[in-house]
Amino acid sequence: MKPRSQEWRQRDRAVLWHPFTPQKLWEEEDFPVIERGRGCWLVDADGRRYLDGVSSLWCNTHGHRAREIDAALRKQIGKIAHATFLGLSNPPAIELAERLVALAPKGLTRVFYSDNGSTAVEIALKMAFQYWQRNGRPLRTKFVSLVEGYHGDTVGAMSVGGIAPFHERFKPLLFPTIKAPATYAYRCSKASSLEECGAHCLEELEAILRTHAHEVCGVVIEPLVQGAGGMIVQPRGFVKRVRELCAKHDVFLIADEVMTGFGRTGTTFACEQEEVTPDFMAVSKGLTGGYLPLAATLTTERVYDGFLGDVFYHGHTYTGNPLACAAALGALKALARLKGVPARIEQFRRGLDEIARLPHVGEVRRRGLIAGIELVRDRATKEPYAAEERMGHRVILEARKRGVILRPLSLRVPRSCGSRRGLAT
Ligand code: PMP
Repeated sequence: MKPRSQEWRQRDRAVLWHPFTPQKLWEEEDFPVIERGRGCWLVDADGRRYLDGVSSLWCNTHGHRAREIDAALRKQIGKIAHATFLGLSNPPAIELAERLVALAPKGLTRVFYSDNGSTAVEIALKMAFQYWQRNGRPLRTKFVSLVEGYHGDTVGAMSVGGIAPFHERFKPLLFPTIKAPATYAYRCSKASSLEECGAHCLEELEAILRTHAHEVCGVVIEPLVQGAGGMIVQPRGFVKRVRELCAKHDVFLIADEVMTGFGRTGTTFACEQEEVTPDFMAVSKGLTGGYLPLAATLTTERVYDGFLGDVFYHGHTYTGNPLACAAALGALKALARLKGVPARIEQFRRGLDEIARLPHVGEVRRRGLIAGIELVRDRATKEPYAAEERMGHRVILEARKRGVILRPLSLRVPRSCGSRRGLAT
C-alpha cells in the first residue's frame, strides 16, 4: 500500500533537517507531506487539499502544473537536461537572456545566470566590487543596505541583510555594511504616515551617502516591499529617489527583485512602477514559475564594458542549466498570457480589509499580490506578542487546520530609526 502522511512523517524525522525550522518542535508537529498540486492547491499524501497561500515561498506565480511550463520541460527533457555553461552555451539559455533583456527595465542588457536568489545577489555584490576595483575607485569596498532587509543566506547576501534573528549570530563571519533605515512606518518614532517615514528614511540615506559615498560600491534594496523583514512597504516615489541619490553619488543601485519580480507587485518588475533602471537587478523565484532553481543577475553595458580585459571569477556547476531555462521560457509564456491581475489584486484587497478589522491585527501591509499581517497583543498600544509565544506559528497552524498554508515572519520592534543611522554591522 502507498505510504500515507504519518509514515512519511516518521521517515522525514529520521533523516531530514529542514530550513529555518526549530527541529525539536518539528519533531512534535504533524506537518503536511505534499504529494501533488494543481493551480493554487497542494494535496498531501492523505489526499487533503490546502490553498498554497505563500505560493510555495513566493515563487509559484502561475500555479502548480502550469500548462506552458509542463510542456516546455517535456520538450527540453527530450533534448538534454544539462551541459556546462563554462566554455559552452545552449539555446534555452540564449533565448531566455534575450527575453529577459526585452522585459527588464531599459538599459539592463546583460544576463549572468546562477541558481537561487542568494547567489543572484551575491553576484551583483561581487560584480559591483570588482567593477570599482578595476575602474579607478579601489577604496569602494562597502555596501549600504536596509535594516530588516533580506537578500539570502550566503555569506555576502547575509552581510547586506538586516534581520537580527537570522543574521546576528553569524556576525563574525560577515563583512561590514552600512545600514540605512527601513520604511517600517507602523512602528516609526519619527513619523505618523508611510510618506513621512519614507521621507525620513531618504534623508538618512542621503546623509549616509554624503559621508560615505567614496567608500561605497552600491546601495542594495528590495524595491517596493521588504519581504522576509515583514512585508515592509515603501511609499510611492521611494525607489525613484533612491535611484536619484545613487546617481548623484555615482554609486550602484542593486535592486533585489527576487521576491517582487515576475508580476508579484502588479507589474512585471517592481522597479517599473517607479520608472527606475537599477545598475543590477537580481531575479529568481518566479523566473521559472516555481518549477526549478534558476536565478539571473542583470546589469548594464557600463558594468559589462568595465570588465572587458578582465574575468569575473564566479560560476556554478548548474549555471545556465538548459532544463531550468526552458522552464523559465515556459513561465514567461504564461506571464505574457496572464489576464485579470488587477481584478485579482482587488479581490485580495477586499479579503484583507476584513482581516484588518480583527482585534489582534495591528496592520495589514500590501503591495499588489503581496501582503503581511502584523499581529499584536494590543491594538491600541501596538504591544507585540513575546517571541516565545510563537503567535505567528500558532496562527498558521490554525489556518492549516482550515486548509490554508501560510508562513509566519518574526518582526523585531526597532529602536528609534535615528539612532541607527549609518550603523555599521
Ligand atoms: N532576496 C529576496 C528579496 C528574497 O525574498 C529571497 C528569498 N526569500 C532571497 C533573496 C534568497 O533567495 P533564495 O532563497 O532563492 O536563495
